[in-house]
Amino acid sequence: MSSILVFCKDCGKQVPSAEARDQLCLDCRVRKSVADLRDEHARLWRKRERYKSSQANVEQIGRQIARVEDRMGARIKELVPNERQAVDLLRRELETARGQRYTIKGV
Ligand SMILES: [Zn+2]
Repeated sequence: MSSILVFCKDCGKQVPSAEARDQLCLDCRVRKSVADLRDEHARLWRKRERYKSSQANVEQIGRQIARVEDRMGARIKELVPNERQAVDLLRRELETARGQRYTIKGV
């Protein structure tokens, strides 16, 4: 096993070359691979906040959110063979997605 370190071209972190693909560390690859789903998640999350008064809509949006989270999980598992690490990364991406609703204005 080679122990050569490379710099991730995105976050600048030094990682073992075995962990890097396309000069990107695993964290950044995960972040990029779920970026579109994370935006979709944030959009649905905000929509649900708006529809809080209507129970039927909230349930439907809740199911859509769950589906997006499943797809994020599936993508992360493709990139991360270690299951515990995959779960940790998914949790982090979901925390980011849920936090986004506070920083995105409008829509
Ligand atoms: Zn990185």
